[in-house]
Amino acid sequence: MTQVIRTAAELQEKVAGWKRSGILVGVVPTMGALHDGHLSLARAARAQSDRVIVTIFVNPKQFNNPEDLTKYPRTEAQDLALLEAEGVDVLFAPQPEEVYPEGFATTVSVAGVSEMLEGAKRPGHFDGVATVVSKLFGMTQAGRAFFGEKDWQQVQVVQRLVRDLNIPIKIIPCPTIREADGLAMSSRNVRLTAQDRSRAPALPNAMQHAAQSIRSGVPIAQALEEATAMIVAAGFGEVEYLELRDAETLREVSDLSRPVRLLAAAWLGDVRLIDNIDV
Ligand code: AMP
Repeated sequence: MTQVIRTAAELQEKVAGWKRSGILVGVVPTMGALHDGHLSLARAARAQSDRVIVTIFVNPKQFNNPEDLTKYPRTEAQDLALLEAEGVDVLFAPQPEEVYPEGFATTVSVAGVSEMLEGAKRPGHFDGVATVVSKLFGMTQAGRAFFGEKDWQQVQVVQRLVRDLNIPIKIIPCPTIREADGLAMSSRNVRLTAQDRSRAPALPNAMQHAAQSIRSGVPIAQALEEATAMIVAAGFGEVEYLELRDAETLREVSDLSRPVRLLAAAWLGDVRLIDNIDV
């Protein structure tokens, strides 16, 4: 049975009991509307920890766009059934007032890696992420936290955060889970119209094409330009960015001498899709 916990006090009491017995706790932070991507994290947590806590909290602080926050899908009953099937021990699903009570005054801000790409396009987003993740790490006392590479920059921000603040937790990045046609699974995909859904694989396809071109020696700028044109030709709106970056610092790169990552954000109708791949 998955126990549903709504308050920090109850969660901390539960975890304190586990910790006294030397149990290793794994946490999977999510915003719900769970799909196979999330469940792959729960499975990794199950395999690599003694107890698994999945958190579902649509964190208002990480939404820079109020409309995106209101339209964010919320499917808790269905989510709980999926977590039961995965053998998750605790679903922690607090209300916003529980996470940010009257008087809450702290913001955790990671400089550098938070500032570009998603950070530049979504001001305040990573402060919201770093703040809520810090709280969840404190409340769950987890020894391991599982994050999806789907949000590559988020993983780098969280790694920087735990290193900088000596938070005793190991961050485990897990691969992006995709639909059969290559579209990265995302809770926002349900908001795509049928026509846009059929156009959506153009994003990962164009990215794969760019990665292959870059590997085979096509100049980076040219490969990115061609891929952007492919995405637009497929019916996407604005391509906010399509960039080859240092895989860890997310700084710009001019060659392949260090590990790099290809990252993109683009609009399809009123849905903003992000993706990233190895090169
Ligand atoms: P979210 O609910 O979108 O905040 O995502 C919660 C966690 O699930 C984050 O660590 C995401 O990176 C991860 N995640 C979301 N989509 C996927 C996916 N398609 N594959 C793997 N992990 C994912």
